[in-house]
Amino acid sequence: MESSNINLVPKSLLKKHKQKINVNSEKILSEEIIIEKIKNIVIEENIYLISHYYTDPKIQKITEELNGCVSDSLQMAKAGSISDSQTIIVSGVKFMGETAKILSPEKTIIMPTLEATCSLDLGCPADDFKNFCESYPDREIVVYANTSAEVKALADWVVTSSIALEVVDYLDSEGKKILWAPDKHLGSYIRNQTKADMIMWDGACVVHEEFKHEGLKKLIKLHPDAEILVHPESPSSVVDLADCVGSTSQLINHANLSEAKKFVVATDKGIFYQLLKNNPEKEFYEAPTAGNGATCNSCSMCPWMGMNSIMNLYDAVKNKTHEISLDKKIMKEARISLDRMVNFK
Ligand code: SF4
Repeated sequence: MESSNINLVPKSLLKKHKQKINVNSEKILSEEIIIEKIKNIVIEENIYLISHYYTDPKIQKITEELNGCVSDSLQMAKAGSISDSQTIIVSGVKFMGETAKILSPEKTIIMPTLEATCSLDLGCPADDFKNFCESYPDREIVVYANTSAEVKALADWVVTSSIALEVVDYLDSEGKKILWAPDKHLGSYIRNQTKADMIMWDGACVVHEEFKHEGLKKLIKLHPDAEILVHPESPSSVVDLADCVGSTSQLINHANLSEAKKFVVATDKGIFYQLLKNNPEKEFYEAPTAGNGATCNSCSMCPWMGMNSIMNLYDAVKNKTHEISLDKKIMKEARISLDRMVNFK
């Protein structure tokens, strides 16, 4: 049984997001002052910043300069609980803030915006997912981190893309059959690699789903010496062309260590900040998306990640707006599956 719950990005959201970029680019001078103010408050109040690789490069830079954590969702999940700060500001999408709260319930977790969500999270409502799980009572429930706290509370395991393969491989070796949600492309990739018995929820990431096989093949012809780096949320026809398939941190590590000089990258373009910073002598090209004719007009840029801005980061730091608050019972139940991920290996 499969359900079709892929939510598309509302046009109004994309418009709002584009307007925000224009407004910010006109305020470069005042933005410098705002960045200084952010830094002063963060230092004075011992706030810990955690930011995802897909956020605005300016947010990643501020986080690095303040000795915060810029990483993928697995490291983000671990970082909040390790930090000795009582207040943590998570720039990313909502499930990342929720994960930080579940793992550190005694801390104050703030986000620049609570509107930033994820098509995978939206496409897997907890009530529908509960019914789906009840149809397969003999299966181990493994959910991707890009889900709500309520969905995590229904799961046996939470995984991120950097650990999903190993966890499923381990469960398969224990003779377990798996119910996987919500990303069907990542799930198919893992099933192909591990040969595990997996039933899939029908969800997808609106950003990665837009990478196209034919367009990528044309780009490979133009750059035959380039290595192809692909996030496994992409369709299998794109994954099939990859030299390296991995999470954001695995793709970054591969580019850092590889002897290749050119790379074509199929994931959110926020990753280019880290790729270019670490490898200024190497060339990086964006893998082609379907562009304006497609279901997602963002062209390899997550519209929800893009809702994190310097202005709303400042608001979060100064006014402590947008605090994550979750039901205690849900937090307790979701913690079990999250702890399994954090303590795996
Ligand atoms: S890039 Fe895709 S998976 Fe990541 S937050 Fe955006 S919609 Fe979700």
